Amino acid sequence: MQGKLIIFTAPSGAGKTTIVRHLLTVFDSLAFSVSATNRPKREHETHGKDYYFLSTAEFRERVKNGEFVEWEEVYDNQYYGTLKTEVERLLSLGKNIIFDIDVKGATNIKREYPDNSLAVFVKPPSPEILFERLRNRKTESEESLRKRITRAARELEYEESFDAVLLNDVLEETLKNAELLLKKYLTETI
Ligand code: 5GP
Repeated sequence: MQGKLIIFTAPSGAGKTTIVRHLLTVFDSLAFSVSATNRPKREHETHGKDYYFLSTAEFRERVKNGEFVEWEEVYDNQYYGTLKTEVERLLSLGKNIIFDIDVKGATNIKREYPDNSLAVFVKPPSPEILFERLRNRKTESEESLRKRITRAARELEYEESFDAVLLNDVLEETLKNAELLLKKYLTETI
């Protein structure tokens, strides 16, 4: 049976990483697609688990060699992408794959795998709450925060392009709704 791809996307700060991490603890068949990036590693992150942290030169080399399913310059000089080898590796293990990627990347993955993917847009209760969450994160410099807010404002406009919209207001309820959504999709025949 062909594996399914579940793509979680949202503006930075909408809470998709928390949701994805939770779903991974609930569904045994799921595996996380580890993206590659050239952005600096944050203190709590692990290479190969959160991201494959590459130098800018190596990232560009891999782009040149056609090694990505999709990649984006999400912020100035900060690249993120999904390696073909990552998707193939997880599918060959018989897994369903869950992605945590930006809006444009999600659209590109959906285009590559239209018949076996579900793209979910995580929506914050309001733009103001989203910007507040970003400010409270404290992992970013002022400059990086400014970039993230500008981009998030733009990304909020894209919810209609996806298969499902998941409102993230009260986290506990969001997690329950995300579980229901996945349970339904993973049991559907495609
Ligand atoms: P962060 O730096 O906060 O980990 O991620 C920044 C943004 O890049 C987030 O919206 C995240 O979902 C997105 N992102 C992570 N991996 C990928 C990827 O492989 N491709 C694309 N297009 N975006 C990604």
